[in-house]
Amino acid sequence: MDIAVDTCVLEQGSELADRFTRASTWERADAQWPSHEQRTLVCCRVLAETHDVRTFVFAAEQGKPFTFEPGQFVTVTAEIEGKPVSRCYTISSPPTRPYTLSITVKRAPGGVMSNWLHDNMTEGSTLSAYGPSGIFTPSAGPSEKALYLSAGSGVTPLMSMTRAAFDLGQDRDIVFVHSARTPEDIIFAKELAALEQVSRTLRVIHICEAQSEKGDWQGPLGRLSLDLLKECVPDYQEREVFTCGPAGYMEAVRKTLLDGNHNPSRYHQESFNFAETVEVVEAAPEETASAQPCFTVRLARSGKTFTVDASQTVLAAARKAGVPLPSSCSQGICGTCKTTLLEGTVEMKHNGGIRPREIDRGLRLMCCSKPTSDIVLDM
Ligand SMILES: Cc1cc2nc3c(=O)[nH]c(=O)nc-3n(C[C@H](O)[C@H](O)[C@H](O)COP(=O)(O)OP(=O)(O)OC[C@H]3O[C@@H](n4cnc5c(N)ncnc54)[C@H](O)[C@@H]3O)c2cc1C
Repeated sequence: MDIAVDTCVLEQGSELADRFTRASTWERADAQWPSHEQRTLVCCRVLAETHDVRTFVFAAEQGKPFTFEPGQFVTVTAEIEGKPVSRCYTISSPPTRPYTLSITVKRAPGGVMSNWLHDNMTEGSTLSAYGPSGIFTPSAGPSEKALYLSAGSGVTPLMSMTRAAFDLGQDRDIVFVHSARTPEDIIFAKELAALEQVSRTLRVIHICEAQSEKGDWQGPLGRLSLDLLKECVPDYQEREVFTCGPAGYMEAVRKTLLDGNHNPSRYHQESFNFAETVEVVEAAPEETASAQPCFTVRLARSGKTFTVDASQTVLAAARKAGVPLPSSCSQGICGTCKTTLLEGTVEMKHNGGIRPREIDRGLRLMCCSKPTSDIVLDM
């Protein structure tokens, strides 16, 4: 599992860690906007961050405050060229500013959703989104000292965490190291510089792979290396590390930290690419499937029923039966298909998209749950 690979235990006695985890703004996040519930967001502002990155600021349709944890993402859906398309985007704004929710999107060349958002989302446009999900949050590894390592659009969860820590007046000791292609590609450069100026405990370091067009970049050039890390963050071994960026970047970061004897249990990462994070489990061939016992799935609220054999996930069986269930990643990561199991049992193999406390409350991810009896779902 690549998302928030290692979940640390709350450091007992750490007042700062306790305050961060218990902040009232997101303590009831699960209750207020469940990840399986779709809501309409109203775009109220579009901000150009760089030449190919924009922030879309949304208000909730009924003006209700949003609740989420810094670092979580939403799954947005839109009908594009007649087909429903869903993609996950990290909430780049902090939960401490709960009346708007922002996503910061980089255009992917040839990409369906990112280009559609850039070309179509304007003030007043609406967008459907499933509620916040994800466990790449500060509570995965509360500590007094953090090191945030990001590249490209991977800056978004770390920006939400940094903004939240600042708004809570936490003085959390954060070193924020961001890698960009060129100085023109640095996202949130001005805001981070302003935050650094007024915060006693935030340090921001930008590393650029190439010089700016004007040739006036004074900061480190190249890629993050162990030598550069030792020079810029000499106490990196004492820090809880949160990393987000392209797969190659995260692989290099992880190796650098291991080479530098950083404790791997204090390392957390999030990938923006599902295909790179999980092994794709091949669907069972039909012959094998037909030899499996069959069970009935009943949807308590709609009264619909369909059958599923023990080799199929509930989501796959629902799709086959033409019963629409909310879903996005189909890999047990995003949490969009989280549903309460009212009766029966399933075997679930998830990849971080559900928390232990949610499992205790009876929630399951339909995309990676196979029934072991007849089941009844709360939907
Ligand atoms: C948890 C999570 C959080 C995320 N947060 C952010 C965020 O904060 N900001 C952000 O910008 N992104 C984020 N992403 C990534 C985002 O979800 C999208 O993957 C990204 O915007 C690209 O989507 P798209 O629809 O534009 O591109 P897609 O249409 O999915 O295409 C992606 C790339 O694949 C290529 N491609 C598509 N189909 C084919 C094909 N058949 N053959 C060859 N190439 C193909 C496209 O040209 C494009 O370059 C996040 C992802 C996850 C999982």
